[in-house]
Amino acid sequence: MAVVALVKCESYDYSEVKAAVERGLDLIGGCEQFLKVGERLLLKPNLLAPASPEECVTTHPAVFKAVGEVLASRGAQLIYGDSPAMSSPFNAARKSGVYQAGQELGLEMADFKEGIKISFPEGKQHKSFILARGVVESDGIISISKMKTHGLTRLTGAVKNQFGCIPGVLKGEFHAKLPELDDFATMLVDLNLLIRPRLYVMDGIMAMEGNGPRGGRPRKMNVLLFSADPVALDATVCRMLGVKPDDVPTIKIGQKNGLGQYAEDSLRLVGDPLDTFVTSDFAIARGGLVSNFKSKRLRNIIVPRPAIIDAKCIQCGICVNMCPVSPKAVKWEGEEKKNTPVYNYDRCIRCYCCQEMCPEGAIEIVTPLVGRLFNHFKP
Ligand code: SF4
Ligand code: SF4
Repeated sequence: MAVVALVKCESYDYSEVKAAVERGLDLIGGCEQFLKVGERLLLKPNLLAPASPEECVTTHPAVFKAVGEVLASRGAQLIYGDSPAMSSPFNAARKSGVYQAGQELGLEMADFKEGIKISFPEGKQHKSFILARGVVESDGIISISKMKTHGLTRLTGAVKNQFGCIPGVLKGEFHAKLPELDDFATMLVDLNLLIRPRLYVMDGIMAMEGNGPRGGRPRKMNVLLFSADPVALDATVCRMLGVKPDDVPTIKIGQKNGLGQYAEDSLRLVGDPLDTFVTSDFAIARGGLVSNFKSKRLRNIIVPRPAIIDAKCIQCGICVNMCPVSPKAVKWEGEEKKNTPVYNYDRCIRCYCCQEMCPEGAIEIVTPLVGRLFNHFKP
């Protein structure tokens, strides 16, 4: 039976967060089970991009610090890191406050720039990965994710958090190589099976709804979640937000491939009751199609696509740089950085990297009319 602890925590006041972290770890059986004294453990927060804690793009520093302080008090040697899709790990850590929290705990940042190839013959789809050196050189991973929506996978949660263990721009190559959503999710599950974090903590005190994982709105959810099973944890979040776990491919494929389990009778919830966190109006894709179509014609009329809101665009060009396909599916027309970039939907694989990284929240995911009708009438 997978165990997921839900702990109410209504603010980022450090003493409240620390007490909630202590309680959550006790509820799942105590943190001693996740470490041996003297082991070098890597804390893996979500540092998607340089953003302040109030923007809810990144794991809040109070949660990061509380988890680190509790584990360090039990004898773990801690390092930390993540690899943002753009910008340097240091910039993202400093802007998010995680760097300062790490300084307060006396922690060093791990190397997330250099990659090391690790073979993984057991992988269902991927037989090797290039992982950040900091991941490879640690004895174990503690994953500290942020509760957020995601254009491609609906939810960026405990499973998706490990994508940051792949350094820098290599992440974009996976989108280009694996345009089908289920293939991409299978890769994420393989990655988790290789890394096997020991413990998953999710910061859902302030979540992100809407145009996540970077351009959405903060949403107070008042919860921290704890589990050794990322599939069970993400499925619990789905039930909280009114999403069917089956509709999130990393959950469905995660169970199928042995990463965890999510059937309601195979997991035990402990701590504060799930009902007290359930919301029906969290802005997240519920019925919307997230799958891909091989036919460009069908894809263009059914599958949700990125669209730029001209009034919000500052012509920074990040979307153009991030687009992983060649030739680019979003590019400048006319003089560079003078006008809003333009999409070529025939080339677009719907990876939503552009939407994910737009610093202004200027890219929305729009479902065409036929796609909306298709969703409405599908069984
Ligand atoms: S990333 Fe966003 S703000 Fe920058 S050019 Fe693209 S749409 Fe405009
Ligand atoms: S335009 Fe955006 S969604 Fe389409 S392939 Fe490029 S990055 Fe992905």
